[in-house]
Amino acid sequence: MSIEQLYKIYRQNPGVQTDTRKLRTNDIFFALKGNNFNGNEFAAKALEMGAAFAVVDEAAYFTRPDKMMLVDDALETLQQLALEHRKQLNIPVLAITGTNGKTTTKELINAALSAGLKTYATEGNLNNHIGVPLTILSIRPDVEIAVIEMGANHQLEIASYCKIALPTHGIITNIGKAHLEGFGGEEGVKKAKGELYDFLRATNGTVFVCHDYNYLVEMSKGIPHIITYGNKDADYTGTPAADAAFLGVQVNSEAGFIQTQLVGAYNFPNVMAAIAVASHFKVPPAKAAAAIAAYTPSNNRSQVIRQGSNTIIMDAYNANPSSMKAAIDNFAGIQAPKKVLLLGAMMELGADSIREHEALVAMLERTHWDAVVLVGGDFKKITHPYIYLENSAEAGKWLQQQQLQDTYILIKGSRSTGMEKVLA
Ligand code: ATP
Ligand code: MG
Repeated sequence: MSIEQLYKIYRQNPGVQTDTRKLRTNDIFFALKGNNFNGNEFAAKALEMGAAFAVVDEAAYFTRPDKMMLVDDALETLQQLALEHRKQLNIPVLAITGTNGKTTTKELINAALSAGLKTYATEGNLNNHIGVPLTILSIRPDVEIAVIEMGANHQLEIASYCKIALPTHGIITNIGKAHLEGFGGEEGVKKAKGELYDFLRATNGTVFVCHDYNYLVEMSKGIPHIITYGNKDADYTGTPAADAAFLGVQVNSEAGFIQTQLVGAYNFPNVMAAIAVASHFKVPPAKAAAAIAAYTPSNNRSQVIRQGSNTIIMDAYNANPSSMKAAIDNFAGIQAPKKVLLLGAMMELGADSIREHEALVAMLERTHWDAVVLVGGDFKKITHPYIYLENSAEAGKWLQQQQLQDTYILIKGSRSTGMEKVLA
């Protein structure tokens, strides 16, 4: 059976699933292999549960030739099917990558575009080698524009996603320090994220570039169509007002002033990206602005939580040196009677880890805080003047004992430190 034949089956049964627990009737089941499971073992069960078809890659599980396809690599077949589908879709596809703010930018753009166009965007954070093809295969024929988040932690990953998503438009949100281990340092991060620009340069594509970041302006040279956004000297400009907990943006267009429900001036470029993209695709500015203002983040991404007289900025979704700096700079700028920080360690920094944790402490020392609690990981290995606790449960106990009032509390750390648990 060929990809073309599989595509015909998909056109009749456009649901795709890799997990039998989430299977719906008439889905096509792909038997993928994870660290702890082998999807092939579930293929027959998927058919019993009502799947229309199953793609397996181990001959021993090829038990239903009438409803199964045996391939060398089911993941590769999933990606090929996604490409086949992408080729049939005659729509613009905007790819988003970068170190920080991909999901937030994607969500803001999705909200703004949806005010004028039938838009499909990556669900949640499905931005990897499985999520990208699944996202493409979720695009129904009535969709007018797709927004696809692409994450990466090694070279040539973004290039491979471009080959199946065939983006016509792209955004690199920023280049910072994250996954330094897998990328081989910050230059490596630039090269890896730059693969999106390389693809668009070679395919007569369009990029939206934050003009405030010189390195992006440099990197984007030679791309046929460049649209800029930022603080000044850009096609779309605006000014952040972030002295309060929530970011406001004065946009220099009909969009006017947008009071967002996002924390932090670091969200300013994310908002401006959404303004630029929505305008470019002819969404009425006032409608786009209203959609951006209504967007509330989820999953511990810079959420503001009021508890009694305290205000908690819950940013426990993730952390790396650049996003830590952005969050702390922002927190320093907020007017508040008292400020407390609970920071979990940063992971995946390889040989730079100790140095980056020391740099973070040095940055903290430049500002007066009412208390700082550092939690786990390499914070244990460095000297600092702050409270050190082993894990987020300990930090939670500490927080309860303090009986804080009228205090702003910033909670942030790498995913694995589970800093959201301090409120449990
Ligand atoms: P992931 O790599 O996990 O997919 P992401 O790039 O999608 O992450 P988001 O989920 O949007 O990023 O945001 C995660 C955190 O990054 C936010 O909670 C915030 O702390 C920080 N962040 C968001 N936007 C920016 C930005 N423009 N600059 C620096 N930090 C940012
Ligand atoms: Mg994301």
